[in-house]
Amino acid sequence: MEDACARALGRLYSVVFDQLFAGVRRSPSPRRPNSPNMMPPRKTNPRAEYRLSQIQRANESASLAAKFPKLKSLKVDLSYFEPDGLTRTGELRYKVNVEHAKSMFSFVCQSGECLKGDFDLSNAVAEAVAKKSKTVEGEIRCPGTRVKAKENATPCHNLLRYKLTLGYV
Ligand SMILES: [Zn+2]
Repeated sequence: MEDACARALGRLYSVVFDQLFAGVRRSPSPRRPNSPNMMPPRKTNPRAEYRLSQIQRANESASLAAKFPKLKSLKVDLSYFEPDGLTRTGELRYKVNVEHAKSMFSFVCQSGECLKGDFDLSNAVAEAVAKKSKTVEGEIRCPGTRVKAKENATPCHNLLRYKLTLGYV
């Protein structure tokens, strides 16, 4: 049996890493300049490619502070659930640095089989700021698909319950 706890922690760490360091992370160079031409091409990895494109999109988006000048502080409180909405697989609470965090405000789905799934809270933040809401709670489902070997793709539907606490200038 796998150590479910260690796996959950690893995923939680990757969530933190992906969101918090989206602005500073550098994509790995696809090939070393001196590698011989006879090396076989790297096997494509759709999940890694999607992740890189998402990081790039986030990097190209404005910071939260630039997009929402009235937003002074933002705290997120996230709980990750299996599709049943009952089994909690992780949680994440932190105070967002609005100067540095990107307005493409998206969190990685925790399923290791999920492709093109993320929890995008960009609209939730934009709506909250537009209404000057101090707290917003809601839930969203992962729009990704799970692809297992020899099985058809199925919708991911992991659930994220979130609470945003916002402060204004
Ligand atoms: Zn997913």
